[in-house]
Amino acid sequence: MAKKPEKAKPEKAKRPEKAQRPDSAKQPENAKPDKAAKPDTLWKTPADEALRWVRGTDLSTLDETSTPGWAGKRADGEALLAARAPQLAELQERLFAHGRTGGDRSVLLVLQGLDTSGKGGIVRHAVGMVDPQGVQHRGFGVPTEEEREHDYLWRVRNALPRPGYLGVFDRSHHEQVLVVRVDRLEPVRTWRKHFRELNDFEAEVAASGTLIVKVALFVSPDEQKKRLAERLDRPDKHWKYNPSDIDVREKLPQYLAAYQEMLDRTSTPVAPWYAVPADRKWYARLAVTELLTGALRSLDLDWPPATFDIEAEKARLAAS
Ligand code: ATP
Repeated sequence: MAKKPEKAKPEKAKRPEKAQRPDSAKQPENAKPDKAAKPDTLWKTPADEALRWVRGTDLSTLDETSTPGWAGKRADGEALLAARAPQLAELQERLFAHGRTGGDRSVLLVLQGLDTSGKGGIVRHAVGMVDPQGVQHRGFGVPTEEEREHDYLWRVRNALPRPGYLGVFDRSHHEQVLVVRVDRLEPVRTWRKHFRELNDFEAEVAASGTLIVKVALFVSPDEQKKRLAERLDRPDKHWKYNPSDIDVREKLPQYLAAYQEMLDRTSTPVAPWYAVPADRKWYARLAVTELLTGALRSLDLDWPPATFDIEAEKARLAAS
């Protein structure tokens, strides 16, 4: 069970029991041997189970300071994160090799979260552990003029990972039921249709061989304030600050409602959402690394066999 915050806010409760899974839950059967055996055992509930969104959970009860599933301390988490690097890199390389030899699998990591929720840090610290040649990263901002000439999924389709690639979306097609809803950029009857469209689209993407992992990061209003203050105080962080961040902050209740409905209505078996508390950056980075490692492992990809006669090639090399 996630720890209570030291300064518990009266309206906040711990994550509901139903979002937790038994301690005995195991890694997938096809899990490869784990070198980081000791810190790994500090996952009392695997990240995949502790964080997977359970439809109907009240998002306002999520404790952004909690570390669901994780029984260790920060130092343990950082140790496991470091230990995961070679594993994650190898799994991603297997995926890349698979794509190079005609395979159709790919992985898409979708990151959603308000400003300062740490999306960039996840990309640097979790995704940054793998070979950048195998990553297709795409950020989705306010649609450009060209993008506005097409339907909202056009730019998303163009950014989908090719076979063998790990795709990373920093914000995504889900903005269509977040900022578009909160800022009333479309009439209600239009954006309401998007829930169904998003699910149909993701079902199609999954059917084509892409494993989708969707992560929603949640930072508390207090922590967000601290992070924004730091951006204002430090010259090296001014470039990250956008005055519109304060406007978004003033609409937090509307965003909470929009996120609640997005999670409830677009978490599907082929494209589940994981709700990650993000006040502790080390935890969010570790959790996403675990989700990514688990997703890549679940593909169970072996190294592709040689398409040449190994012995004959060795002989040729020796003679060369
Ligand atoms: P971030 O805050 O993610 O670090 P940023 O401040 O650098 O990003 P951009 O990535 O250029 O800015 O754009 C993000 C902004 O684009 C967000 O305010 C987001 O709500 C907005 N946005 C994304 N998709 C849409 C959309 N479909 N319609 C309108 N606004 C969108």
